Amino acid sequence: MTPIVLPGSTIGVLGSGQLGRMFTLAARRLGYRVHVYSPDDDTPAGQVADQEVRSLYSNLDAVADFARQVDVVTFEFENVPPDTIEIVNAIAPVHPAGHVLYTTQHRIREKSFLRSLGIPVTPFRAIRSWEELRNQGKDDLPGILKTAAWGYDGKGQVKVQTQQDLESAWAGLKCDEAVLERFVDFDAELSIVAARGRDGSVAFYGPFNNMHANHILDASTTPSKLPQAIIDDAIDIARAILTEFELIGVLCVEFFLTTDGKLLVNELAPRPHNSGHLTIDAHATCQFEQQVRAVCGLPLGAATQLRPAAMVNLLGEVWRRGEPSWAKALAVKELKLHLYGKRETRVGRKMGHLTALADSPSDALEIALTARRSLC
Ligand code: AMP
Repeated sequence: MTPIVLPGSTIGVLGSGQLGRMFTLAARRLGYRVHVYSPDDDTPAGQVADQEVRSLYSNLDAVADFARQVDVVTFEFENVPPDTIEIVNAIAPVHPAGHVLYTTQHRIREKSFLRSLGIPVTPFRAIRSWEELRNQGKDDLPGILKTAAWGYDGKGQVKVQTQQDLESAWAGLKCDEAVLERFVDFDAELSIVAARGRDGSVAFYGPFNNMHANHILDASTTPSKLPQAIIDDAIDIARAILTEFELIGVLCVEFFLTTDGKLLVNELAPRPHNSGHLTIDAHATCQFEQQVRAVCGLPLGAATQLRPAAMVNLLGEVWRRGEPSWAKALAVKELKLHLYGKRETRVGRKMGHLTALADSPSDALEIALTARRSLC
């Protein structure tokens, strides 16, 4: 059994965006040192880490050097190549394990894995060539064509209404493998953030009710007012996935709740998730601290929710009229501002978020939305 990685030790993080930043802040609160690795510098995580290493994920010598400086490694970026994880793991343990990343970074592998467990997924067809799409795609329309790898926040996916749209959709994605998903009529989008420790103990957050705009998460609220049977089902699915993967760390399961009341898994992310950001302010132990505890082999903390809460994202658009009016938003009581330290604002880029606490999730959402409107 690998020894516990105690506070004072060094955690390595592959990836250095906002998830890495919030993970690093949680780790430093617990007394760990953190080194982050990514191809960029002055990154959201690098700004708060003990060391920021800038190199390509494909530079295996630099990756091995990085691994030699740390006691345990985790990742916040899903597209780390499998070779990189293998090199790291030969030097320092990686959690969640490489096989989890390998499965979840590719939509065909991920959906096939879920199906093999009997977990309902969005109906899909694996596409490996234009001929396959041309000959078989017409049976799955209207749908969404998504690249099998490298997609996030609506990137790498295109809506396909008719057979005539197929060719331009395939050409536009510029990929070798894709999935064509049926368009799902849903009443709600939900997520469960789940954690599993080295001892096999588990903790669950949510379901979060998620609202998207332009395929990007816009707002999340919890607790959910859905029937208990649906909540229990969602948690059971998350538990089954954690167990099958023997996952150590945090995993998010995103669901569609269809108009006829069925839960379908849309996708998995083997790391903390945007919908779980409100756990920093609303829960006894947040998703990032849970990741620290799990990967270091410490007991998980309580996932108890302390107040109903809502989170709204701050995308680059909030800066369209110049620097947002932070003082106005911060004058709202029970509102928390989180900014990720990104210098360059772009439309659709996640720059920060607001969390509001209130007596109900709908009140919290109203407070957060009003505060966001006051920013620009
Ligand atoms: P994804 O990157 O797969 O999580 O997709 C981003 C968002 O696009 C989802 O959260 C949904 O709002 C929407 N979306 C994705 N796939 C489908 C689908 N098959 N049917 C309907 N909406 C979808």
